[in-house]
Amino acid sequence: MKNSTQIEPTNGYPGSFLESIHRDPSCKWCKHPEQPLYSAGFCRHCYRINRDVSKLESQIQERKRHKQSLSSYVLFRLKTARKMVYLAKAEGANYGNIHKKNVAGSNLELQFSQVSKALIRKDLYDGNTANVFDWSFSPDQKRLIYYLLSRVIRHRERSARRSIAMALASRERGRE
Ligand SMILES: [Zn+2]
Repeated sequence: MKNSTQIEPTNGYPGSFLESIHRDPSCKWCKHPEQPLYSAGFCRHCYRINRDVSKLESQIQERKRHKQSLSSYVLFRLKTARKMVYLAKAEGANYGNIHKKNVAGSNLELQFSQVSKALIRKDLYDGNTANVFDWSFSPDQKRLIYYLLSRVIRHRERSARRSIAMALASRERGRE
């Protein structure tokens, strides 16, 4: 049954919607269009990470200047904070400026795989869905789907950023 108030989709809508949400400047690291700028060109999340790195670096400099020993805990915290910088920038590289990104079916397949693994610990999309996207959706429609799914993936990555960074830092420590 057709709803009389239903508006027919228009080809131009996905592109202009994506343009509109990317109109305002975004955080210089994570480039998240929904995180308002907080200070110094950062959103609040990245601002805190940047502040942590600077604080830890100056603490360490201070101790070095006074020829005091450095605890491995402080060094580990700095390494973790730097990993968080790396992850925030990687978020920006993966999901920033989606309106200008060339989104392929394989990018969408990867996103669906991530969501599938997070929900059911099993990948139902691996290697079998990229063509379905490429053969069904226009470039702007693929960008829009990518953007909509990226919101939940980014939320999850941001919430887990510190623990992911700690895992990366301790993996490196194991190799040193
Ligand atoms: Zn940010």
